[in-house]
Amino acid sequence: MAYRCGNCGQSAKKTSTNYLFRESGLRNVVLKNIEVIKCGHCGNEDPVIHKMADLMRQIAQALVEKPYALTGEEIRFLRKYLGMSGGAFARLLHTDKTVLSRWENNQIDVGSKSDLLIRAIVCNLGNGLKQEAERIVRKFPEIDESDQKAVRIEINDSAFAYA
Ligand SMILES: [Zn+2]
Repeated sequence: MAYRCGNCGQSAKKTSTNYLFRESGLRNVVLKNIEVIKCGHCGNEDPVIHKMADLMRQIAQALVEKPYALTGEEIRFLRKYLGMSGGAFARLLHTDKTVLSRWENNQIDVGSKSDLLIRAIVCNLGNGLKQEAERIVRKFPEIDESDQKAVRIEINDSAFAYA
């Protein structure tokens, strides 16, 4: 079967590789052994993602369980996972959308209370996360909120791991 490059339109090959999923808006999400349409002409790589909703849920769950404080990009991902505007999400958090926007842009620290509240809200309102909510919230004491470390999240078909 022939494939076409999504960028330059030349013929491309399907291959299996680890793919840094920058389209997520996160810098550290790697899809392990995923099919990629790779172009030998322009170098473009297009991942073949069969279950986008499952993938997004995996990433959201990895973030709410992350053992360190959330970064701005991670908060933005979680807000979008809920399908909420900045204004709507800020209202849930009893903050204003300017502050939320500064959190998302890493201009000011979120603070541990808001970080944990964001996780609790996402656990309860996020698609497919509700049944994990109790287990995740009970692990909150293990989160190191003093450290906003960007953790690499590796996603396989049915599981994620921190690396
Ligand atoms: Zn190309």
